[in-house]
Amino acid sequence: MNVYDSERMAEALGGQGYVSTNTPDDADMILLNTCHIREKAAEKIYSELGRYKGLKAEKPDLKIGVAGCVAQAEGAEIVRRQPMVDLVVGPQSYHKLPQMEARVQTGRRAIDTDFPEEDKFEHLTKRPKARRGPTAFLTVQEGCDKFCAFCVVPYTRGAEVSRPAEQILVEAAELVDRGVRELTLLGQNVNAYHGHADGLAGLIWKLSDIDGLERIRFTTSHPNDMDDALINAHRDCPKLMPYLHLPVQSGSDRILKAMNRKHTAAEYIDLINRIRDAKPDLLLSGDFIVGFPGETDADFEDTMTLVREVGYGQAYSFKYSARPGTPAAEREDVPADVADERLQRLQALLSDQQKAAQNAMVGRNTTVLFEKTGREAGQLVGKSEHLQAVHVVGNIDLIGTVQSVRITTAMTNSLEGELL
Ligand code: SAH
Ligand code: SF4
Repeated sequence: MNVYDSERMAEALGGQGYVSTNTPDDADMILLNTCHIREKAAEKIYSELGRYKGLKAEKPDLKIGVAGCVAQAEGAEIVRRQPMVDLVVGPQSYHKLPQMEARVQTGRRAIDTDFPEEDKFEHLTKRPKARRGPTAFLTVQEGCDKFCAFCVVPYTRGAEVSRPAEQILVEAAELVDRGVRELTLLGQNVNAYHGHADGLAGLIWKLSDIDGLERIRFTTSHPNDMDDALINAHRDCPKLMPYLHLPVQSGSDRILKAMNRKHTAAEYIDLINRIRDAKPDLLLSGDFIVGFPGETDADFEDTMTLVREVGYGQAYSFKYSARPGTPAAEREDVPADVADERLQRLQALLSDQQKAAQNAMVGRNTTVLFEKTGREAGQLVGKSEHLQAVHVVGNIDLIGTVQSVRITTAMTNSLEGELL
C-alpha cells in the first residue's frame, strides 16, 4: 500500500511543479514514506533521516518530510529526534500535501496527522494520463476494526473504510487506458470491502467487465471475511488469479485467542479446504508470527503442524515485535533466542514448501504477463498466474501482454520457460 500511496503523493505534488528524481542529491524535497508494523521498519527511518543531515546542511532549501504510519504514530517524536524535518503527514492526510508544501516554503513546519472527515481520494489530484507499466496497485479499502492484540494498523490507518465501487471503477478504467493489464486491489483487510452491495466479490466481477484488464488480484485478507461469494469468484471469474494471501499468524488455538484473531486453527483449515474445493489450483500464501507473548513450545509445534497440513506456496514469517499502544505490548516477551530458533525452523519448513511449489511447475503450461526485460540479452520477465517470476527468451514487444508459457526449469526464486 505504501507503493500506491507514494505514487499518489508524488502526483499530488506534481501540481506544485515537482517531478521524481533518481537520487536524493537532485531533490528539492525528500519525502520518506514509512511503515510502523514492526519496530525494525519504524526504526529504519531514523537512520535514513540521519543520512540526509549532511545534504540538508549543504542545501538549506532542501525540504525533508516524513509520511506514512510512522509519521502518524510518532509525529512529535520524529520532530524531537530530527528537528530538521519540515513536514510530517499521516496516511489519511496526504491529499493536503500541496497546502503543506506551501507552508513549508515559507519556512514553517507543517504537521498533519488527523483522521479527516473527508475522503482523501475525492480531494487528490486527477491521476496523470501518461503510459505506465502493465501492473498496478489500487487501494480499495483502508484501516481495520479488528484490533488483533499485536497490531498497530487500527491505530495508524484508522477505522475500516471502503472506497465506493464507482470511484474505483473510474480509476481502474483510467489505469487500463494507460497500459495496465493487471490490478492488485489493496486493503489492510481487503476482503472486508463493503463499497459494493456484494462486497469484494461484487467489485471484482464489476472490474472484470473492463476490456483490456486481464488479471485481478487482491491482498491482504482476513480468514473471517472470506465469504462464499469471494470463494465462488475464485472458482468462476477467469480474470481473478489463482493466488490467495490468507494469513493465519499461528496454528495454536490458545495463541489465536490471545491474539484476538477470533477463529480457531480447525476453522482456518476447514476454510482452506472449502477454498481448495472451489479452486484446486490455487497457490496459498500466508503470514506467521512466532514468539507471540505466552507462546510455548507446544503452541509453536501447533503452528508447524498447521503449516504441514495446509502447505503454502509462498509465506512471510516474522518474529513478534512489541508495538507501543497495543494490548500485547503489556505482556511478557518470549526470550529472543527461543523466538529466533522457532523462526528459523518455521522458515526452513516454509522455504521447502515454496521450493516444492516451484518444482511442481516444471513441465506445466501457464500464462505469464510480461513486465520488463531481464538481465540477460533477449530475456523477458513476467509473473505467472501464481505470482511466480518467470523468465523467457522473447521479443520486447511482448511486454504488457499475457502469453502462454511452458515452464522448463525451477530456480529458488524464479522459473524459466519457453513461449508456446
Ligand atoms: N490484515 C492482515 C495483516 C496485515 S499486517 C491480517 O489480519 O492478516 C501484515 C502482517 O504483519 C501480519 O499478517 C503479521 O503477520 C505481521 N505483523 C503485524 N504486526 C506485527 C507485530 N507486532 N509483530 C510481528 N509481525 C507483525
Ligand atoms: Fe492488524 Fe490484520 Fe489484525 Fe487488522 S486484522 S488488526 S490489520 S493483523
